[in-house]
Amino acid sequence: MSNEVDVIVIGLGPGGESVATELAQAGLEVVGIDKHLVGGECPYYGCVPTKMMIRAVDLLQEGRRISGMAGDSVVTADWTPVAQRIADEATDHWDDKVAVERLEDAGVRFVRGHGRLVGPRQVEVDGEAFVAKRGVVLNTGTEPGVPPVAGLDETPYWTNRDAVKLEQLPGSLIVIGGGAIGAELAQAFARFGVRVTVLEVADRILAPEEPEASAIVTTVFGDEGIQVLTGVTIESVKHAEGQFSVEVGDQVLTSEKLLVAAGRRTNLEDIGLDAVGLDPQARSLDTDEHMQVIDGLWAIGDITGKGAFTHMSMYQASIASKAILGAAASADYRAVPRVTFTDPEVGSVGMTEKQARDAGLNVRIGSADLASSSRGWIHKAGNAGLIKLVEDSGEGVLVGATAVGPSGGEILSALTVAVHARVPTSTLASMIYAYPTFHRAIEDAVKDLSS
Ligand SMILES: Cc1cc2nc3c(=O)[nH]c(=O)nc-3n(C[C@H](O)[C@H](O)[C@H](O)COP(=O)(O)OP(=O)(O)OC[C@H]3O[C@@H](n4cnc5c(N)ncnc54)[C@H](O)[C@@H]3O)c2cc1C
Repeated sequence: MSNEVDVIVIGLGPGGESVATELAQAGLEVVGIDKHLVGGECPYYGCVPTKMMIRAVDLLQEGRRISGMAGDSVVTADWTPVAQRIADEATDHWDDKVAVERLEDAGVRFVRGHGRLVGPRQVEVDGEAFVAKRGVVLNTGTEPGVPPVAGLDETPYWTNRDAVKLEQLPGSLIVIGGGAIGAELAQAFARFGVRVTVLEVADRILAPEEPEASAIVTTVFGDEGIQVLTGVTIESVKHAEGQFSVEVGDQVLTSEKLLVAAGRRTNLEDIGLDAVGLDPQARSLDTDEHMQVIDGLWAIGDITGKGAFTHMSMYQASIASKAILGAAASADYRAVPRVTFTDPEVGSVGMTEKQARDAGLNVRIGSADLASSSRGWIHKAGNAGLIKLVEDSGEGVLVGATAVGPSGGEILSALTVAVHARVPTSTLASMIYAYPTFHRAIEDAVKDLSS
């Protein structure tokens, strides 16, 4: 078998798997390389197992809400079916046999190993050399980032990769990091009865989101008994006699387990960037609108720094495939949607108010409280939420929006269309919103738009 092929894909996360499959199905000779599991972080350690946990805790929480609204309930949480479902259904016990077969059935030649660029269009995998006539696609993704806290490295802390493999829950957990991953896992474990503390260095959790969204989730966390400490400096971490001690300012917090969810580190070291004239210390790779980094080299997914989401990786994969096949497609990042699957969900798209103001736009803001909307009021238990719209008033279109609430991520779809398609806010004001839906609160937020 010749090692000279059309395209080599290093890293088979969601985007890499997709680009390799599309190109092979289009008739190109493709080699796909992964050192771990085909499919990457999302199916084995990220989106899918964590959303299975969240599905379970949503059921528990709805059960707990029966009281006072539909009778009485006694909810007994049991982690066993959650752990089983993640192992059996989501991850095949962290075995990618099915994904490898799917890839090979599509015509991709799969090589397991560490891929590294050794020159333009040249790749080595554990000593074996490959040449790509058209070029190489990088999709090497991320690893959990670990903050430089004294003592942390010497402790048996968890990352998301340990958290999704848990068979038994601890009694108590400190979560370092109140971003989307930390917040989702903190609430999931807390609703299963774990005593959870979240430590966040920024002045609020979910810091990239609108402050109003952070405030709602912080209040809900407080109501559910999750301790949230923001603006903290973590001085040191120790582990002794089965217990973690985390020194935060002048207090020492203790817990049975410690979860580090403090951002992600891109896998750009040791992939031979210097062999093609790129900075080996780069934290992300700049691409043009066709995902090309330099001639014959494309990058997609988390390593491009455009949003660490599965949908971003897949979107960029489709653009890179088209570019490699000679069709025109350009990446447009104005309407990137993102959802934090806490309860309430936080869905957002495009710019926050601050980003829009910092960009020098003339901004109008409109918001509506979801709890006091018709549907929110009917829903009652668990109805916290809001819609917040950011309008470029010069253009009369939305440039950003946030939907917090039950199904916040689903409400977001309408707002994503509005931002993506530049639907005039006058059109949003004149359309009909079904009664009594949660998304009907968008109409109130549109009416509220003001400078
Ligand atoms: C806990 C958690 C929850 C998440 N939830 C969501 C969610 O709900 N929605 C969402 O959109 N996103 C979510 N994400 C983010 C999502 O998982 C990533 O954005 C997604 O996996 C896309 O990543 P990627 O394509 O860049 O590559 P990755 O998925 O990171 O995969 C990279 C692949 O490259 C391989 N690799 C790396 N270096 C080499 C090398 N040198 N040679 C060979 N192979 C290599 C790795 O083994 C891996 O398989 C979540 C992430 C986490 C951690």
